[in-house]
Amino acid sequence: MIRKNRNRGRYSFANINLLGKCNLDCFFCLGKDLEEEFLKYNSLDTPPSRLPNLAEFLALCKRQSVRNIYITGQNTDPLLYRHLDELIDYLQREGFMAGLRTNGLLAHRKIATINRCRKSVSYTMLTLNEETMQEITGVRKIPYFDYIFRNVTIPQRVATVVTTQNVDEILDLIMFVSQYPQIGYFQVRRISTDTREKEMMEHIEAFEKFYERVRKKFPQVDEFERSPILDIYGVKVSFWRTVETSVNSLNYFSNGVLSREYFIIEGYLKNKNAT
Ligand code: SF4
Repeated sequence: MIRKNRNRGRYSFANINLLGKCNLDCFFCLGKDLEEEFLKYNSLDTPPSRLPNLAEFLALCKRQSVRNIYITGQNTDPLLYRHLDELIDYLQREGFMAGLRTNGLLAHRKIATINRCRKSVSYTMLTLNEETMQEITGVRKIPYFDYIFRNVTIPQRVATVVTTQNVDEILDLIMFVSQYPQIGYFQVRRISTDTREKEMMEHIEAFEKFYERVRKKFPQVDEFERSPILDIYGVKVSFWRTVETSVNSLNYFSNGVLSREYFIIEGYLKNKNAT
């Protein structure tokens, strides 16, 4: 049973959630919680100056003293956004530090874009095995992580999402990442959903069982926003149960919806209905 922690700290970051079609089809995608709604919008060709309410959102971020803004996708990948360089530059001219959250599939072709960011870039690494990749995302191709990690200059983070398909590979992923000292930390995420908890339960349980197993083997060295951090093969690995953490964020959706809620789907629905 997922319990949301509604006792949240001050806003420490903001997300720009782009809407459009993704180049992967992850079965756990949070965008699928509201699939039909999100698929009504496609902002991938819209320049920043024409994204509705973006200026208002940035003014809200300034009022809340939020400096870090992550460009991500609700049902797409930010590297598919045609005006990404322009958006990064615009945010940074406005005094923000821009970061990205990407599935990494296009990253080897977008190194220069990635290196424009002043904040960190997070790559989702689900597996290094093509069959597992196909099962989870519908696509066999594995991002060129080695090339990417050796060519980007800004701080990086790697995140994975535990599923029944990849749970036995997670320690190997951490071992792979341990070769790259420029990767600050590795985040092991539990699937997050607002509307499909029952459907996702076996994967949620796989996360919890995996955590129980590794916490007996590897030392806990820290905690961040209620998320335990273990040292595994010399890598700081956080176990992230999204809705149970205490971190807080502002959210912008590229169809113009603004949300002061950390919970993505709940905040979207509340604010969409209010507009
Ligand atoms: S990469 Fe992200 S946005 Fe794309 S399908 Fe997977 S979870 Fe959804």
